[in-house]
Amino acid sequence: MKKLTSPEFARLGEQTRLVLAGRDPSDSYGFVNPPIVRGSTVVYPNTEDFLVRKARYTYGTAGNPTLDALMAAANTIEGGAGVVVTPSGLMACTLAFLTMLSAGDHVLVTDSVYRPTRIFCDTFLKRMGVETTYYDPSIGSDIAKLFKPNTRAVWTEAPGSQTFEMQDIPAIVAAAQERDILVAMDNTWATPLFFDAHKFGVDYSVQAGTKYYAAHSDVLIGTVSARTPELFKKLHAAWSQLGLIVAPEDAFLTLRGMRTMSVRLKEQMPAGIAMAAWLRDRPEVARVLHPALPGAPGHEIWKRDFTGASSLFTIELKPVSMKAVGAMLDGLTLFGIGASWGGYESLVLPFDCRDYRTATTPDFKGPTVRIHIGLENIEDLKADLDAGFARLRAAS
Ligand SMILES: *Cc1c(COP(=O)(O)O)cnc(C)c1O
Repeated sequence: MKKLTSPEFARLGEQTRLVLAGRDPSDSYGFVNPPIVRGSTVVYPNTEDFLVRKARYTYGTAGNPTLDALMAAANTIEGGAGVVVTPSGLMACTLAFLTMLSAGDHVLVTDSVYRPTRIFCDTFLKRMGVETTYYDPSIGSDIAKLFKPNTRAVWTEAPGSQTFEMQDIPAIVAAAQERDILVAMDNTWATPLFFDAHKFGVDYSVQAGTKYYAAHSDVLIGTVSARTPELFKKLHAAWSQLGLIVAPEDAFLTLRGMRTMSVRLKEQMPAGIAMAAWLRDRPEVARVLHPALPGAPGHEIWKRDFTGASSLFTIELKPVSMKAVGAMLDGLTLFGIGASWGGYESLVLPFDCRDYRTATTPDFKGPTVRIHIGLENIEDLKADLDAGFARLRAAS
């Protein structure tokens, strides 16, 4: 294989770059994939080199070729100045906060935020002297009304991963940039393939790589991408000061997942939309929350800003007892009951977000169930849910 120059590589399509990024067979004894390099200590040829740390890799926590390969692949789809990898998606979120904020700062966080991120803000960040205000995810340019003199950052997540509110990211970015306030986004749902966060001005773009990157429900990992070299310098400094190293096996598995990410999403996106449409027509279902479904909340923003959708959405059932919901979900044979998503397998998850929202009051009248569509045959999945609805009706 002849090596591509950087400009030649940059001109390739996203799918091609995902296949090529982070591997150089001449660096791995000719094998296609980069090796899993394990290591803490790096040994130097002589005293002089050691004293100035003259080496491609200086110590295990300072970088590792397997991690570099993953960061190169993530960077090529994020399109920013650089990516760091973290031991979980949650750590990717918390690292972005720790990079942006100092004692005395104020941060605005969407009320639809991933719940463990909210817990981090309410406890750890509070203890460090950072004040959090939650805002209505649909706020748009009115976010400016919440800016205080010490507001340093706005945290966005679109859509919310339980209730699927879309956010007007361009409006929020425009308001924030006027005041030199940073904007970060948890972009796990769309992935960089379907929402180009940096192009929209997002400064720090976060992925729970556990989801569609790793995609096989066997790895916890996260990434943070910085829009500019200056922002990356700060991110990299925080990452290295915290000693956030990822096991090379996990980096390897995530990279392996990413090679097939675009085909999986191309299969899962229409399956998710088809399932959402089928569910909308069911008599047991009150509402389907899936931004890519025409007529669903947030669809217009999704159509304007996003180029695709993943296969995670929520249904609101017509009012029914939790016992009936249990009868429906417990008997499913293809859908596991469990947290997380983005893997190859389908999942369901009952939830009630009313207890912890503070800026908005969700108006659900019936139970809410989040659904992730995996790579199974969709007719099999519909039959499984159809039998589930029969159990729900029988138990109501
Ligand atoms: C799962 C998830 C995370 C956290 O990822 P983990 O790897 O499970 O820690 C963060 N944000 C969103 C939106 C998620 O769905």
